[in-house]
Amino acid sequence: MTPEELMNKIAGRRVIASISGGKDSAAMSLYLRELGIEHDRVFFDTGWEHPATYEYLRGELTREIGSIVELQAKFPAIDTSAITRPRVRAAVEAGNAMVIACLQKAMFPSRVIRFCTQDLKVFPMQAYISTRVEAGEEVINAVGIRRAESDARAKMSEWEWSDGFDCEVWRPLVDWSEQEVIEIHARHGLRPNPLYLQGATRVGCWPCIFARKAEVRMLGDTDEERVALIDELEQELTQRARARAEESGAKLSFERTWFQQFKGRSREQLWPIRRMVEWSRTTRGGRVQDMQVALFSQADDGCMRWGLCETISLGSTPSSEDE
Ligand code: SF4
Repeated sequence: MTPEELMNKIAGRRVIASISGGKDSAAMSLYLRELGIEHDRVFFDTGWEHPATYEYLRGELTREIGSIVELQAKFPAIDTSAITRPRVRAAVEAGNAMVIACLQKAMFPSRVIRFCTQDLKVFPMQAYISTRVEAGEEVINAVGIRRAESDARAKMSEWEWSDGFDCEVWRPLVDWSEQEVIEIHARHGLRPNPLYLQGATRVGCWPCIFARKAEVRMLGDTDEERVALIDELEQELTQRARARAEESGAKLSFERTWFQQFKGRSREQLWPIRRMVEWSRTTRGGRVQDMQVALFSQADDGCMRWGLCETISLGSTPSSEDE
C-alpha cells in the first residue's frame, strides 16, 4: 500500500496502538511515527508484568514514543481480612489485577478458561474503545503482530474487522522481520525491554500460564518473591477449594496450581510452582518440545491475535516422563 493509499484507508480514523512493553509493539509505534500517523498508545496492566517491564514502559519507552495510557480491569472489592497469606493480602491491597481475578474466580487461568486474557485485557480494551466510539470517534486498533513469528500468525491479514472490539484491527508490521524490528529501534536510539537482553524471548505476564521451561527457570533463578507469591496464592486457592468441597461433603479432587499445561497428565497430577521451578532446572523434558506445538497453538488465538500479549509458547512442559 502506498502512503497515499494508507492514509485513504485510515480515512481520518484515530489509531489506538496496543503497547505490551515488548519489542514489536514498540517498533510499531515508532513506525507509525515515521509514517506521520498520530496515534494513542494503550497498555493493559495485569499487575503481573515483570518489574523491568513496568520500569521500561513508564521510563525509556514513554520518553521515546510518548505517553501510554494504562488500562486495568475493575473488580468488586475483596474482603482482605479473610486472606491469611501475607503476600496475597498485600497484592490485593495494592490492586494487583491478576491476583484479584484469581481470588474472584476461585481458580487460576488456564488454556481452556483464559480469564487472564479476557478479563484483564480484552474487556478493558473493549470498554476503552467503546468509550471513544460513544464519544463520537471512529477508531482503528493497531497491533504489533508479525507473520514471521509462528505458523498461526503466518495466515493473519494486515487488516481485519473485530466484532469484539467493534472496530477494524490493523497489523502494520505483519510482513516485518525481526531484523527490521531491531533496526527501527536502532534508528531511534531506543533500547529494547531489558528482559530480552537477559534471555527472554517474549515479554508478558511474569510468568505467563504458557511459560516455557527456560522461562520458569529464569523466574526461579531471579525472582524468589514472585515464586513465593504464586506459592501462597496456590495455597490460598487450594484451601478455599478444599473448604468448599468439604462443606458439600466432598473431598478436594485436585490442588490448585498456576501451571496446568501438563502433557498427558490429569489434573490430579499437576505440580505446584516450587516443584515446577525444581523441574525447570533439570535437563530432561526438552524432547517433548515438538509435541507441545499443537497443545499450545491455542495460545495464538486470544492474547496474540489482537496483540494483547506476546504468547509464543512452544517450549517443553512436564510430562509423565519427568516424574
Ligand atoms: S501473557 Fe499469558 S498469563 Fe498473561 S494474559 Fe496472556 S495468556 Fe494470560
